Amino acid sequence: MAQAGNSELVDAFEQFFRNYCDNEVKQLAQQYPNEQRSLFIDWQDLYRYDPDLADDYLNQPEQLQRYAEEALRLYDLPIDVSLGQAHVRIRNLPDTESPEIRDIRAQNMNKLVQVRGIVRKATDVRPKIEEAAFECQLCGTLNRIPQSTGDFQEPHECQGCERQGPFQVNFDQSEFVDAQKLRIQESPEGLRGGETPQALDIHVEDDITGEVTPGDHVSAVGVLRLEQQGNQQEKSPIFDFYMEGISVDIDEEQFEDMDITEEDKKEIVRLSTEDGIYEKMVASIAPSIYGYEQEKLAMMLQLFSGVTKQLPDGSRIRGDLHMLLIGDPGTGKSQMLGYIRNIAPRSVYTSGKGSSSAGLTAAAVRDDFGDGQQWTLEAGALVLADQGIAAVDELDKMRSEDRSAMHEALEQQKISVSKAGINATLKSRCSLLGAANPKYGRFDQYEPIAEQIDLEPALISRFDLIFTVTDNPDEEKDRNLAEHILTTNYAGELTTQQEEMTSLEVTTDEIEEMTDQVDPEIDAELLRKYIAYAKQNCHPRMTEEARETIRDFYVDLRLKGTDEDAPIPVTARKLEALVRLAEASARIRLSDTVEAGDAERVVEIVRSTLQDIGVDPETGEFDADIVEAGTTKSQRDRIKNIKQLISDIEAEYDDGAPMDIVLERADEIGMDQSKAEHEIDKLKQKGEVYEPSTDNLRTT
Ligand code: ADP
Ligand code: MG
Repeated sequence: MAQAGNSELVDAFEQFFRNYCDNEVKQLAQQYPNEQRSLFIDWQDLYRYDPDLADDYLNQPEQLQRYAEEALRLYDLPIDVSLGQAHVRIRNLPDTESPEIRDIRAQNMNKLVQVRGIVRKATDVRPKIEEAAFECQLCGTLNRIPQSTGDFQEPHECQGCERQGPFQVNFDQSEFVDAQKLRIQESPEGLRGGETPQALDIHVEDDITGEVTPGDHVSAVGVLRLEQQGNQQEKSPIFDFYMEGISVDIDEEQFEDMDITEEDKKEIVRLSTEDGIYEKMVASIAPSIYGYEQEKLAMMLQLFSGVTKQLPDGSRIRGDLHMLLIGDPGTGKSQMLGYIRNIAPRSVYTSGKGSSSAGLTAAAVRDDFGDGQQWTLEAGALVLADQGIAAVDELDKMRSEDRSAMHEALEQQKISVSKAGINATLKSRCSLLGAANPKYGRFDQYEPIAEQIDLEPALISRFDLIFTVTDNPDEEKDRNLAEHILTTNYAGELTTQQEEMTSLEVTTDEIEEMTDQVDPEIDAELLRKYIAYAKQNCHPRMTEEARETIRDFYVDLRLKGTDEDAPIPVTARKLEALVRLAEASARIRLSDTVEAGDAERVVEIVRSTLQDIGVDPETGEFDADIVEAGTTKSQRDRIKNIKQLISDIEAEYDDGAPMDIVLERADEIGMDQSKAEHEIDKLKQKGEVYEPSTDNLRTT
């Protein structure tokens, strides 16, 4: 530290204030103490003014802050006001003093640092006693006891009468300060290859409490302190870091960590104009997974996303796309979801069961974080993924609390929490990529698919796209799949051998040739930049031709739904989905206009997913009723028929309708045996039919 005396340092700060923040100090004086209680100073300004002073601030923050606050009190003000309790809060440290949370070490102790991250948890704001005034009930003396962190300190004996109380806290004479605890977690975009984010707790006081909400991206400046692990009885030699927060600023919510160089830009623009860019994109997602071209294209569109629109009336239409992969186990869903982490500029990967108490949405809890006393608001995956993508595996297993909050999260893209005095709205402007297994583990070909998805129709309808993945044997496909998986594994074996063994019969060329086959077309790092670049710079608008294509498709779909007694097949939501998808398709080309080709591309995708989910498995016809109501018309007819059949036959026999007769008659009316058996089983499960004796049936 500079060998300056205290008063010289105070003078130095006074000079600095005069040169750099005279207006701010004057404003503070006018607003003090009700509206404003802090003077915020920029470290970079301080450095420009006096590099030594700025460096000292980093190393001895506590002392320097005292001098700075002293200078503030001595400052010559035009109005007569004392800035007695005003704070000096420093912000904007250089990158060299902004370690990643995971890199904080013992040497950072008691130093000023800045951390960046996303607010994961925040307690509610409560008054904390800083100095307690104990009034002796015998002699009336006030005993002032300063309260530091830890337990509440009480006087041993009265300073007046030297007796041991009893005492009572006099609130008017005590000093309180608003206090709040925050937990900051490393931002999703800073993490590569699925690292677990690390967190740091920050204690904030007075005027900077209640300023941030979970989900906010912040830069926090403060002093790192230690807190011993363990409890009163068993203290551990290991300590935890926490930060005494000095300033907490909300960051611009862009992809701040992405350095897109001029060279990258050139490469991105070059790629965007190439023929077959869409195929290249598809070949850049999860190359180890064979097939799924449509799914992969859709995932890519999701990453680029549509344009978020602000309407003149103040409302907002989301540009983010939500997509669900539902299918048989072992079909590569989890693998594809996991790959998103490699290429999404900002992503959160989690399981529906959730790894934290906040689950997928958010929660207000009373746990250790608030010392079991204060309520804590915690952000779940969809909040942490704000402005990015949330990949949620096993979505069907999500907690019931999440199910209800999910509707708002997906459509309005915010989550409201109102519990125990906490009223907050968290932002969740993210795309959801979900994977789920069918309700009974595996798809049943006799059941309409919509009935086998364990999510309520209102939630299902919020997905822009739903892909169903069935695992049925198919010789050609199986052969290709086997070839692909074997190649992938072989390429992996070669690479491992190359690394682990000194002598090898295969040449480097051969190895390269093998690995080339399973490498992504566009390198993951470049693709991340490509996506971030397109999202930032490209806001396409529809051409008339594109609008026409989408309009025609939609009207045609709706027409199909007006047959007979089928209710409305698809809602206007699908229309918005088409628009979003088409915009995303234009963004891949970095184009500012959505062409007819984009519209056709996405109509193709939507048509195929609707068919997957909406085709009557028996007639093969598109039956939109399935998507919304969960049963097909032919299936409803069949259920009615078979029940009728049983009750007819039952009347002819004393012991109930014999199974073989039922199946025989079913066959006569054109229902094959396996379907009839399946339907009977279901009627039994529902309790509409029972078996009074083996192979005899009765209706209830
Ligand atoms: P799911 O989540 O659908 O149950 P997983 O993603 O866990 O399935 O996949 C199981 C395994 O099968 C993985 O190792 C995956 O690589 C492999 N696999 C499944 N389908 C494919 C495919 N189409 N191409 C390559 N590998 C596949
Ligand atoms: Mg899985």
